[in-house]
Amino acid sequence: MDALFDIRQHVELECINCHTRVPLNRQVAGCPKCGENILEARYDLNKIDVPRWMEVLRRRREGLWRYREVLPIQDSRNIVSLGEGGTPLIKSHALAASLGLKHLYIKDERQGPTGSFKDRQATVAISALKEMGVNEVVVASTGNVAIAYAAYAARAGIKVWAFFPSLTPGDKMREAALYGAEVIKVTGTYDETKEIAAKFAKHKGIFLDRGIKSVAAIEAMKTMSYEMAEQLGDDLADGERWIAPDWFLQGVSGGMGPIGVAKGFQELYGFGLVDKLPALGMIQSAGCAPMVEAYQRGQRIATPIDHPQTIIATLATGNPGRAYELLYDYVHHYGGHFTTATDDEAFTATLVLARMDGISVEPATAVTFAGLIKMVQDSVIKPDDVVVVNCSGHTIAVEKNILGDHWEETVELQEQHKVQTLPQEGLLSALEQVESQVRRIVIIEDNFDAARLIKRILQARGSYDIHIANDGRQGIEMIREVRPDMVVTDLMMPDVDGFKVIETMKADKAMASIPIVVVTAKELTAKERARLSGQIDSLLQKGSFIDEEFIESLVSKLR
Ligand SMILES: *Cc1c(COP(=O)(O)O)cnc(C)c1O
Ligand SMILES: [Zn+2]
Repeated sequence: MDALFDIRQHVELECINCHTRVPLNRQVAGCPKCGENILEARYDLNKIDVPRWMEVLRRRREGLWRYREVLPIQDSRNIVSLGEGGTPLIKSHALAASLGLKHLYIKDERQGPTGSFKDRQATVAISALKEMGVNEVVVASTGNVAIAYAAYAARAGIKVWAFFPSLTPGDKMREAALYGAEVIKVTGTYDETKEIAAKFAKHKGIFLDRGIKSVAAIEAMKTMSYEMAEQLGDDLADGERWIAPDWFLQGVSGGMGPIGVAKGFQELYGFGLVDKLPALGMIQSAGCAPMVEAYQRGQRIATPIDHPQTIIATLATGNPGRAYELLYDYVHHYGGHFTTATDDEAFTATLVLARMDGISVEPATAVTFAGLIKMVQDSVIKPDDVVVVNCSGHTIAVEKNILGDHWEETVELQEQHKVQTLPQEGLLSALEQVESQVRRIVIIEDNFDAARLIKRILQARGSYDIHIANDGRQGIEMIREVRPDMVVTDLMMPDVDGFKVIETMKADKAMASIPIVVVTAKELTAKERARLSGQIDSLLQKGSFIDEEFIESLVSKLR
C-alpha cells in the first residue's frame, strides 16, 4: 500500500459558516446547505499513529505529497505532481543582522515549479479535479494561481480557462497561455473578474474552481506548516523535535496562505508535534488593505475596497469575504498583526533583499519584507523571536516571441465598471532614487562584518562608490587619496581610533569639511560626547541601525 492510512475513512468537508459536514466528493466547490465558498477538510486525526507516522516520514523524500495522509486525495494514482513543496528554509544573515534579529528564516517558495507557492495549491486542486473526473475548469486569478493551474492541468490533460484582471502583468498572462490555457483579460478589478468568470462558467456549464477559496487551497498551504516545523526542528534542535516559529509572515490578498498555515499548525498541535501556535503577521498593499483597515478599526468584518490603488496585482483582492473573519479570530486567540506597505516601500525592499541576501522576489513578496522591517521597527517582532517569512513568489519573465499575437481575448467592461488607471510613478520614482549619482564614501571600521554590512545597506539603496579601511591610519590615507563625499567611522579601533581620525580630519583644511557619521557600539561617556560635539554630523548606535532609518540619515547627509 502506498499510503500509510486509508484516507477515505476519515476525511470530511466542513462548512466554516454553518458547520454542515459533507463527505469528500464532487461537491467540493461549496456548502450544499448555505452556499459558503470556504470548506475545511476534517480528518479523524486520532486514527493516525503519530510515532509510526514519524518513522515513515523519516524515510520519505521531500515534497508536498510526503504528508499525503493529511491531504484530501483518495487514490494516489490521481496525484498530478511536478516536484512541488519541500522548499528550503533559508536562514537570513545580512538582512537579519541589519534588523537585529537572531532567527530570521526565509521559506523559499520561489523554488516551486512555476515560481510561487500557488504550485502547492495547483497540485492539490488539479489532482482533486482529476479524481472528480473534471476535464475543463474556469479560474479567475491575478496571475500566479492561473499559471500554476495551467502547468499542472497541462500534465493532467485538463483544459483551463484563465480570467485575469487587466492589472495582471502581461508576462504572467503569457506564461499561462504558454501552458495552453485560454487567456481572457478583463478590463476590470479582480473582484469583477471573478464575477465574469463565474457567469462564463455557468453559461458554458464548465466547472468553476473558486480559486483560492477552496478546500484544496487551504489543505495545500498547510503543508508549509509541516515543512517549517520539521525544518526549524532540524535547524534549532538537531532534528530532535518539530518546532513552531514565533511568527509566520506573508503578503496577503485572499488570505488562503495564512489560513492554511494556521490550520497546519493546529493539526500539528493536536498531534502533540509542536507546543505552540505561531503569531501571524499579515501584510497588505497600502492601496488595497481591507483586512488591515478593519483590524485597525477593531472590526471582525472587512469593508470591501472597490477600486484597489496598487500596481501589485497579486495583492489586489478588494473583498476578502469570510477569510478575514477566520484570520481575525485566529489573531484574537493566538496572536498576530495586520499591517500595510506601500508600493514604493515594497520596491525598496526588493532591492534590499536582492542585494543583502541574494533573493529576487516579485512585488507581492517584497510587501512582506517591507512589513517585516516595519514590525521590527515598531517592536511588534522582538530580537529573539523565531520568524519565518513566506518568500511567496519569484520575478520570472517568459520568452516573448513564442506565442505570436493572438494568445489573449479581451472583455471590455462598460465604462462605469472600469478601474481608474493607476499611476505608474511608484516604480519609476523608486528606480530613479536608486539611479542617483554615484557618490564616494569611505568606511573606517575594524570589524570586517560590520563594514561589509554597512556597505551592503548602502548599496541596497544606490550606486555609491564605497571604500573600506580597516583601521584609522589606513582610513586617513584613504580619505586623502579618494576625497570622499562622506566618511563613516567606528570609534573603537586599535592604534589610531575614531576620535583621532576625526581630530586629524578637522585639523586638515583639505578634509575638514567632509561630513562624518560615527557608528559605534559603545555607550559614550560625557567626556567622549564633549569631544565629538560640533565635530560630527551624526551618531548611530551599532545594532540599532535598522536599515531604513540608517539609510535615510546617511543619504540625507549626501544631498
Ligand atoms: C497568492 C499570492 C499571495 C497572496 O496569497 P493569499 O494567502 O491568498 O492571500 C502572496 N504572494 C504571492 C506571490 C502570491 O502568489
Ligand atoms: Zn454552510
